Amino acid sequence: MTEFVFREDSYVRSLPTLVTAITPEGGIVLDRTIFYATSGGQPGDTGRLERADGSFVTIAGSVHPDGDKAAIVQVPAEGQAQLQPGEEVIAHLDWDRRYRLMRMHTALHLVTVVLPYPITGAGVGEDKGRIDFNLPDVPDAVEIERRLNDLAAAAHAVSAEWITDAELEANPGLIKSMNVKPPVGQGRVRLIRIGDIDLQPCGGTHVKNTSEIGTLRLGKIEKKGAINRRVTVLFG
Ligand SMILES: [Zn+2]
Repeated sequence: MTEFVFREDSYVRSLPTLVTAITPEGGIVLDRTIFYATSGGQPGDTGRLERADGSFVTIAGSVHPDGDKAAIVQVPAEGQAQLQPGEEVIAHLDWDRRYRLMRMHTALHLVTVVLPYPITGAGVGEDKGRIDFNLPDVPDAVEIERRLNDLAAAAHAVSAEWITDAELEANPGLIKSMNVKPPVGQGRVRLIRIGDIDLQPCGGTHVKNTSEIGTLRLGKIEKKGAINRRVTVLFG
């Protein structure tokens, strides 16, 4: 079972670890990993594995194999050297990319504070993020952007806590998303708390303080159906 180090500390950029298995498709399973796997609208991490001889294996992405949220496979880029189970490596994140994803992911939590409507989808990118809402009326974009930047600049602390699946089931109001399922099924669920303004289950990676997000710019508000609006946010 791989230890998900990013879940306890999303700021670990490099980590000594061990190759525990190579999948039939050539995917790399590690004893413990700092590579977040694609899920919840956030793309999986990229980076490199440093071998004992100083050479590198480039990691093009990270996934949950067959949707198994308890496992992570690092996917090597084309033409990389074949690692062996039992081999010690040092994992290095593509930190610039991941940090942008952390900032944008946390920014999307702020969007759900400014727009407290049912969520039907979300996507986190390095340069922009988007959330789809059940929201019949088009809100005032200037006002949303102002409130978003106020919330980010207010330097709210971002922290994690854990509850059981049963506790989440007893508090359905915590779930803002209609069809992105919270990360249940492992007995406990992680909640992300932003100051006193937001608390919701989330398995992604976040910054420690909203001040790290920087300035945000509201992109398009697109109509995606009779009562659905797609709100896009970019770095300012
Ligand atoms: Zn999150």
